[in-house]
Amino acid sequence: MEKSINKIGVLTSGGDAPGMNACIRAVVRTGIYYNIEMVGVMKGYQGLIDNEFIPLPSHAVSNIIQRGGTILKTARCMEFKTKEGREKAFRNLQAQGIDALIVIGGDGTFSGAEVFSREFNVPVIGIPGTIDNDLFGTDFTIGFDTANNSVIQAIDQIRDTAASHNRLFFVEVMGRDAGVIALWAGIAGGSEAILIPEKETAIESLISKLAEGAENQKSSSIVVVAEGEKSGGALKIAEEVKRRFDHYDTKVTVLGHLQRGGSPTCFDRVLASRMGYAAVKALLNNVEGKMIGMVNNRMHFTELSLAISRHSPFDEELAEIAAVLSI
Ligand code: ADP
Repeated sequence: MEKSINKIGVLTSGGDAPGMNACIRAVVRTGIYYNIEMVGVMKGYQGLIDNEFIPLPSHAVSNIIQRGGTILKTARCMEFKTKEGREKAFRNLQAQGIDALIVIGGDGTFSGAEVFSREFNVPVIGIPGTIDNDLFGTDFTIGFDTANNSVIQAIDQIRDTAASHNRLFFVEVMGRDAGVIALWAGIAGGSEAILIPEKETAIESLISKLAEGAENQKSSSIVVVAEGEKSGGALKIAEEVKRRFDHYDTKVTVLGHLQRGGSPTCFDRVLASRMGYAAVKALLNNVEGKMIGMVNNRMHFTELSLAISRHSPFDEELAEIAAVLSI
């Protein structure tokens, strides 16, 4: 039987990502356009359990499209991993008269959404909001493009000082399990090498590459290292390289959380707007239990159960391009 949807709740959960606000705005405005009452849940699943709901009229999402972070806040919530916690959340949803949920986050958020929708028969649509771009079922996640742009801005600035002083810089970027940011920002920043969790780091070949560069009159070198790189991360590799190759003055920069914030790029704002719009339209068409994605520039739905059980495949071609262009 078709469920009638009159009131939709929206939340952001897990790590924040630039573009989440643009997505909240799109969800709210689309809902209101179709005469749906829109409600925000504060602090992700924690707010569902703690009964923290806020009305979201159209003006509540004015002037947020350009802001990083999330106006709904986000949190990690252990209680939602328990049946009792989810029961509390369901009772609060019922008391509010909320018919369906849109959750914006990463694979943890979708794991919670999947179990919750199955247990209590609540229609849920997931929207991928994470800078990591490692989710199955979408070419891009909201926040990835902005994070890359923050990283390449930092790399460009580091390159100026590296070139002036004949320095070798190791730049550590986010990516505990996947080296996607490192790969993209490494290519876009013209880095000499990219070290990622998906590939083994061979110190010997890294050093011979750097030595070749020095022989070819390179005045500076930038090596981008994903934080999840398997041989110990940027600091450890830099130490090892410094010990065995002293042509350059060697420095390490860990970019850390500056990659998470900032005003979303045009790409992320448009992606967030498309996904937010499509999520509401999906619920109104009785589509549920799916993650929305963008595949070949079209909106695409993947079962939440599939989205959480797989990762996006590693892009070997990009790795090859990075290697070829960094000679
Ligand atoms: P992300 O969504 O960015 O991957 P997390 O992994 O922290 O972030 O997940 C966000 C939240 O989703 C968790 O704090 C928890 O409340 C909920 N969650 C994650 N995994 C599960 C699970 N297996 N069952 C229920 N809830 C979960």
